[in-house]
Amino acid sequence: MDLYSGHINKLIEELAALPGIGSKSAQRLAFHLINMPQDKVQRLADTIVEAKANVRYCKECFTLTDRDICPVCANKNRNHKMIMVVENTRDLAAYEKTGRYEGVYHVLHGAISPMLGIGPGEIKLKELIERLKGEVEEVIIATNSSLEGETTAMYISKMIKPTGIRVTRIASGVPVGGDLEYIDEVTLLRALDGRIEL
Ligand code: ZN
Repeated sequence: MDLYSGHINKLIEELAALPGIGSKSAQRLAFHLINMPQDKVQRLADTIVEAKANVRYCKECFTLTDRDICPVCANKNRNHKMIMVVENTRDLAAYEKTGRYEGVYHVLHGAISPMLGIGPGEIKLKELIERLKGEVEEVIIATNSSLEGETTAMYISKMIKPTGIRVTRIASGVPVGGDLEYIDEVTLLRALDGRIEL
């Protein structure tokens, strides 16, 4: 039964397809948007389209940025010989917020998950290996402590070991299954300081 007009249904459908938005939230958002002034809706729509058009991967670390090289990679004061591997840009942001990490990052955009059919080729691992040809002293693996994160950490460690580059894993101050982005700064720093050799 069609309760709403086709346009509203379409809007609800599109919103409900976003992560973390159930059908009830999608309905609420849809009606909120419909009731918003035209110019505000336009601004929101433009912002989404512009972000999509202008945001790209940093050529070095693959984080999302609107420049060729992101501000972290472009900063000469950072230690470019230390690379922290994270699953996504949100995790990078979490460590950046601590203001204490001086190295650079590598963003994988995912983690290996045999269950979901995500293999090593689906995340930015080749690109990491490519970077190791430069001058790198340590790779800190800061993937989440979920099954996927641990699998990925093990895979990377095995991959890097033969190169002789130091490989470490952030300590388990990070709760099991915990997403880095939700963890407080003190815990993040403790995990970094207490990192262990792999
Ligand atoms: Zn970068």
